[in-house]
Formats: sequence, C-alpha cells, structure tokens
Amino acid sequence: SHPTIGSSVIPIINKLQDILSPLGSDELSKIPLPHVAVVGSQSSGKSSVLEALVGRDFLPRGCEICTRCPLILQLERRPTAKSSDEHGGVVVDDDREWGEFLHLPHSRFYDFSRIRKEIQTETEREAGKNKGVSEKPIRLKISSPNVLNITLIDLPGITKVPVGDQPTDIEARIRKMIMDHIRQENCIILAVSPANSDLATSDALQMAKEADPKGNRTIGVITKLDIMDKGTNACNFLLGKVIPLHLGYIGVVNRSQADINKNKSIGEALSFEEQFFHDHPEYHNIQDRCGIPQLAKKLNEILEQHIRETLPALKSQLNSYFQAIEEEMRTYGDAMESKEKKGAIILDMLRSYNEAFCSLIDGKNCEMSTE
Ligand code: GDP
Ligand code: MG
Repeated sequence: SHPTIGSSVIPIINKLQDILSPLGSDELSKIPLPHVAVVGSQSSGKSSVLEALVGRDFLPRGCEICTRCPLILQLERRPTAKSSDEHGGVVVDDDREWGEFLHLPHSRFYDFSRIRKEIQTETEREAGKNKGVSEKPIRLKISSPNVLNITLIDLPGITKVPVGDQPTDIEARIRKMIMDHIRQENCIILAVSPANSDLATSDALQMAKEADPKGNRTIGVITKLDIMDKGTNACNFLLGKVIPLHLGYIGVVNRSQADINKNKSIGEALSFEEQFFHDHPEYHNIQDRCGIPQLAKKLNEILEQHIRETLPALKSQLNSYFQAIEEEMRTYGDAMESKEKKGAIILDMLRSYNEAFCSLIDGKNCEMSTE
C-alpha cells in the first residue's frame, strides 16, 4: 500500500498517546495537528489530490463544478475493538472503516461510494441543484484504525464567470470562503495548479501567497502533468525557478475524467502515475518532486516537524502536572504515611513515563526534574 497522509506519523502519535494516556488526562494525550486544505481554481484537481492522499475513493470529482461547499473531513483513529461472541468464543478485530456525517448522526456509511452520493445529495440540499455554492460546510468523519487524527478541508474552486444559480459576485464569495479557511495559522495549504494552464497566473499560488506570505505552510501541487502540450514540461516550475516557494512543489498525475468514468481504482491510478514518471526522461532526475507518494511524504515530514515543535509546550504542561501532584502529596503530611507511600509510588510511575516521553522527544537530555 502507498504512503497516505500520516502513515509515517501514526507510529509517533501512537507512541506519545501510549505514554500519556495512563495519566488519564484527555487534554494531554491529544496532540493537536494542523489542518490541511486544498485550494485552486475549479477543476484543477483538488478533490482528486485529497482523495489520493487519504487513499479512499469517496469525493465527488468531475469536469464541472463538483465541490460546491466546503467539506470538512475529519479522520479519526479508532483503536481496534475486540468483540467476542456471547459464549466468550471467537474474538474478531473490528477494523472496519466507516463515514458519519454531522447532518446524519448515528448512521454509519461502510460503503464509500454511498458517502460520495450523500455528499452530492447534501450539496444539492445546501447549495441547490444548479451550480450554486454555499459557505456552510458539510462535515464528515471517517473512523478507521488506520488513519491519523487529522482534519482535511476540500474547498470549492475559484470560478470567474457566474453560471447557473451563481450570484454575480461568485468569485469574491468563493475567495472569501477560501481565505477564511487558509488564513488560519494552523492550516497547511496545498496550492493546486493544473500544468495545462498558465502556472504563472495560478489562483492557488496567488491566494496562498496572500494567506501565507512567507510560504511556511504552503506546498505547491502541480496536477495534470500527463496532459501538457507536447514538447513542454513543468520541470522549471517544480524546481521553483518560476515562482519560488519555500516548501517547494510536487507534480502529480491523477485520474482523468475517462479514468473516473471507467471506475479506475486509486491503486491502478498510482501505478500509472509511477510508470508515467519512470518513463518520462525530463522528470527522471527530479523523482523526489514527483508523485502522490512524494506529496504524502512531504506532508508527513511537515506533520512530524510540527509534532516535534509542540513537544516542548507539552513537556512544560507535563511539568506543571507533576508539580501539582507533588504538591498534593506534601499536603498529606506525616500522619498519612501509607497514603504518602502510595503517592511516592505514583510519582515514581510518573517519572518513568516522563523519561520515556523525553527519550522520545530528544534522546537522553531529559531535564524534567519535579523538584
Ligand atoms: P477540483 O474541481 O479541483 O476538485 O478537481 P477534480 O478533482 O474534481 O478534477 C477535475 C477534473 O480533472 C476531473 O475530471 C479529473 O478527472 C481531472 N483531473 C484531475 N487531475 C488530473 C490529472 O492529473 N490528469 C488528468 N488527465 N486529469 C485530471
Ligand atoms: Mg473538487
């Protein structure tokens, strides 16, 4: 299976959670991760990129406007539940994945193609049948033992000319909707631009620049490398020679409309992409900037970095937690010797978690004395 978003980060998060969960504090064991949002013009391939990163087929995609309201997709890691039958017999791991919509609480969708249908139906309810756009997001939670707890946001693309029920100020409205999401400091922006249009005038890069002027949280994604004009390629762009971008660019090949019509799977699409880059002489030398797996890798590196950056704050949170406990131990006084002994044992236990925690963060230089 290919690296999806978070696959390399999951073991780190799991380990942190293992270390922290015996402390019984939910707040401490939840590591907040940034959101990831896709921006770009209509039909640039945003939904396709997001789907490939998640590794599941469930988003409406197509050549017309498909994403007409923001979709807030919350991946939620669920520990594998062991369920046994009444006679204590067979034990099965429940590792099924399901989706659940906020607007349809308590109904679990196990069939991902039905999730896509429900997104379409809800989009029509919220934004009408005739290409209208709504700011009210659809919220979908995907529960699985194999995902990272992270939120992904699929946004409508920028359109210039109003069609159907779209108001005359459609462009301004969509821009505002996008900006409201990507301006947030904890948002990683995937700025998606199709290679078969003029990259220098890319809406995605322009908006990302406005929301994140230093480019600390923007990754450029160039889609549709397979349908560029013959004799042209996106190498200079991918190398950052046209519009430099601090975190750089990744070029990808997603499924075409014909592939979608033929129900080509994500797996097949990824093999095709791999072959495409392998066979292409120009892209051969910049393999690290090509392909969905490289994009997943880059995102995972950014998430890892983020986790590392949040650890010192977590460490000091833990410190005050320990201090509070020690303080409480003191108030028990001499009269309650046995209780104090118990306290000492607990404190010892905490210290050893602390050590495990620190060795995870930064090797051995652990200075978390509770004195
Ligand atoms: P969005 O509007 O930005 O979310 O774009 P979609 O993901 O819905 O894709 C729009 C259309 O472009 C669909 O018909 C896709 O099949 C097609 N498409 C997306 N990425 C690629 C690509 O890399 N190559 C080709 N040939 N078609 C693509
Ligand atoms: Mg879309």
